[in-house]
Amino acid sequence: MTTIVVIGGGIIGLCTAEKLLSEGYNVVLVEKNCIAAGASFGNAGGIAFSEVMPMASKAMVSQGIRWLFDKNGPFSVVPQDLPHTFSWLLRFTMAAREATYLKSVTLQSRLMDLGKEVLPQMLSRSRLQHMVRTTGALYLYDTKPQYEAAMSDWRIRKDQGVPHEFLIGNSLHQFQKGLAPGIYGGVYAPNYQAVTNPNDFCQEIFNHLSQNGLTTVFEKAGSIRSNERGVEVVLESGKTVKGSKAVVAAGPWSAELCNSLGDKVPLIGERGYNTTLPKEAFSALDKTFFFTAHGFVISPLADGVRVGGASEIAKLARKPNYRRSTAMLNKAKELVPALQLMNGKQWMGMRPTTPDTLPVIGRSSKSRDILYAFGHGHLGLTQSTATAHLIHNLVCENTIDPMLIGLSVDRF
Ligand SMILES: Cc1cc2nc3c(=O)[nH]c(=O)nc-3n(C[C@H](O)[C@H](O)[C@H](O)COP(=O)(O)OP(=O)(O)OC[C@H]3O[C@@H](n4cnc5c(N)ncnc54)[C@H](O)[C@@H]3O)c2cc1C
Repeated sequence: MTTIVVIGGGIIGLCTAEKLLSEGYNVVLVEKNCIAAGASFGNAGGIAFSEVMPMASKAMVSQGIRWLFDKNGPFSVVPQDLPHTFSWLLRFTMAAREATYLKSVTLQSRLMDLGKEVLPQMLSRSRLQHMVRTTGALYLYDTKPQYEAAMSDWRIRKDQGVPHEFLIGNSLHQFQKGLAPGIYGGVYAPNYQAVTNPNDFCQEIFNHLSQNGLTTVFEKAGSIRSNERGVEVVLESGKTVKGSKAVVAAGPWSAELCNSLGDKVPLIGERGYNTTLPKEAFSALDKTFFFTAHGFVISPLADGVRVGGASEIAKLARKPNYRRSTAMLNKAKELVPALQLMNGKQWMGMRPTTPDTLPVIGRSSKSRDILYAFGHGHLGLTQSTATAHLIHNLVCENTIDPMLIGLSVDRF
């Protein structure tokens, strides 16, 4: 039986392992810490197929510059780390140019369409349908200019067939109780889905895989070698795991492995923060609230209410600055006075983000047998099953989806 080694036990590695196991491959998962040790543990849980607009956009660059001057704002750059992050920031700005942006919208839309098709298949194979709920999402705008500025995004979502309903003034406040009276308007997207809890979702996928033949090695992968017989993943202890192919799905740490192979990937750990409050903090919350202009989301989890988002550009090893979680929580209270702020648990996670904010899915430029599946930024949970599908296509070397050209590591 053909063995594939998957490096990384986050949502991308788990979904990839699931797809490969279901297709009859022998899969060895290598994880340096525990299952869902990274951003996959504590994200907002949204299956955000409607978010086809890449973060690298002109609007985000100008918004980001404004946010930089607000010390409690959702975007920050750690000045001491600029030697590590400056070139990434520059490339992000370049990727926001109209031509690149429009190309990225097309790629992102195709990835989302594929996700819509294959997510139900994965849920059915692993019997996890009960962990994904159609919660709907309410995008909220506290001022008229914010609402009007969002209309270009809604035109794109309309073209993508995302059902939505505009709600202004009283109709918004009648539709949703608990908001600050000054909030100008909102847009409700009823088809938005979310997992019950992102960590639980990962653990359940892992349980399913473990019961279906997955081998797991809890050790750090230090490097990868390839030769005519396949690949060898060299662990920190010096032991090796052999396979026909290896998939690098190590989140923001993937760049270390790629660099050791000679593929230079501009990847950062874009830090996000949140606070998970007990369910009673807003027990009437049944849908996700997006406060895009304030850079945060309020998500209803099965067992709590999660308030978070933000983007902090820093080097991987920097300690979290939980002032960011607190600032978002205070802003959330202003906008949703019904929210109770007691007994929250703060968390920081690092999104694996490339400058064009699209993932890297494809072959290493150095070996056909080393595959890359990382860099999903704000959308890794959403794009995990589509990624797994594309990686399976590369593993069995039959159909190569044309979208892989745009997602290849060669684009950098
Ligand atoms: C605040 C926040 C909110 C978010 N909300 C959403 C959302 O609502 N919807 C959405 O789709 N996405 C969301 N995201 C993004 C999403 O969480 C990430 O894109 C996704 O989790 C990335 O998954 P991953 O498997 O690539 O990486 P990770 O989750 O980082 O997993 C990588 C794994 O690889 C392991 N690893 C690393 N190096 C090695 C090595 N050398 N050897 C062995 N193992 C290794 C790590 O220990 C880790 O377990 C959010 C992110 C944040 C921070």
